[in-house]
Amino acid sequence: MIPPLQELLAVCKNLTPQEERLVTDAYEYSKSAHEGQLRGSGEPYFTHVFATAKILAEMHADAVTIAAGLLHDVLEDTNAEEGEMRAKFGDEVITLVAGVTKLGHIKYKGVARHAESLRKFFVASAHDIRVVTIKLADRLHNVSTLEHVPKEKQRRIAIETIDIYARLADRLGMGKMKSQLEDLAFPFAYPEEYAKTRRVLEEFTTLGEQHLMRVAENLREELQILDANITSLNYRTKHAYSLWNKLKLFDYDQTKIFDIYALRVLVPTVADCYQALGIIHGLYKPVPGKFKDYIAVPKPNGYQSLHTAIFDGQGSVMEVQIRTEEMHKEAEYGIYSHVGYKEGGRTTSGSNNPNPNKKVSWTQELLEAQRNMEKPEDFMKHLKLDFFETRVFAYTPKGDVIELPRGASVIDFAYAIHSDIGNHMFGARINNKMVPIDAEIEQGDIVEILRKDNCKPTRKWLDMCKTTFARTHIRKYLREHGGVIDKMLLS
Ligand code: MN
Repeated sequence: MIPPLQELLAVCKNLTPQEERLVTDAYEYSKSAHEGQLRGSGEPYFTHVFATAKILAEMHADAVTIAAGLLHDVLEDTNAEEGEMRAKFGDEVITLVAGVTKLGHIKYKGVARHAESLRKFFVASAHDIRVVTIKLADRLHNVSTLEHVPKEKQRRIAIETIDIYARLADRLGMGKMKSQLEDLAFPFAYPEEYAKTRRVLEEFTTLGEQHLMRVAENLREELQILDANITSLNYRTKHAYSLWNKLKLFDYDQTKIFDIYALRVLVPTVADCYQALGIIHGLYKPVPGKFKDYIAVPKPNGYQSLHTAIFDGQGSVMEVQIRTEEMHKEAEYGIYSHVGYKEGGRTTSGSNNPNPNKKVSWTQELLEAQRNMEKPEDFMKHLKLDFFETRVFAYTPKGDVIELPRGASVIDFAYAIHSDIGNHMFGARINNKMVPIDAEIEQGDIVEILRKDNCKPTRKWLDMCKTTFARTHIRKYLREHGGVIDKMLLS
């Protein structure tokens, strides 16, 4: 029942003897700390942290992160002492574990306009980007065992996984993690749409696969004859969630989607990419307007590849992707694809980026900032300047995050949760202290709204709030309950 250490070590890459010691110690410590605890599935709890560590090892994380993966639920869920763990595993591991524990309290309410800020907040609060990757691995295992979670929670967790976690994985360039998260969550988040998409995929699998193999085989032979420098040629199927996004775009007209399957050609160098492209365009007529050079102009998350579509000579159109092995590794593992270069014990990215003008996303910017700054305080300062200037994030006592403009009050917070809470608020506690209802919310406050059926908003509240949302609701209430205004004006 308890997975053996060897199963984990077998997927860890190039560990030094000290690193192997660290992973082994973390394994033993976590195993005994979680002893006797069970998952919703009835399995030993340890299987979850073990799976998390294994996912991290598979995505080429460093030994410290793998150890932290094994220990990630120890602080929260067992009697382990932080001080004792720090002495045993060192600051770096424990800082990651503490970071994961802290992030565990952030929940997503499913408000789309907040999603991007929440993602940013998530990364910023993590301090170390590796904390985010542990949360991703943790979520990947949790979402793969979602059938054991109570029904009413499944959908919320699934949507949060797609909107927040998968998008973060995408921002970090971790394509494999992104598609796994999406496909595991998809059936729970949108069951009907999932069923429809499955049907389309199955139809294509029976019809398309043999055809595809024929085209691939032809192409392989032709490329060999022309002596092209090819490392491998295979194909990938679009994963279900991403296919659904396309289907929506084309109103479920699957004949308009050319990339359910794509041939994937891996080559040694950038020059080989363009050579292979030239050969393929010479053999098969390219579809006009379908060629995209993501090598010269990478996607915002750093993705690089050549994409083209060809008439395959058998009556249909097929997408072809050409890239170097290096680019492929980056597309799959993102920030961890360069791990392995170590300088003075610190993991660095091998930034032999072929394109210095590469556009980077905010996550990569954060990552760079984080790498280049000596002190974590500087990193936070940098973040605060451009991001936390205008927004504050506060928590409900249950850990849901509420995003508000700077200067917002308790009233804004109450209406952001629900208009009914706002309309019947009689008081509030910030960080467990009673406060007046016009109290300003600060970054990271835990705000508890106290509600009473007979409490109602007054006209004065309009001057005590900052969001249009709260104001609109207060006005609406006052209009619909005119008596309240009259009474207030008389008193
Ligand atoms: Mn966990």
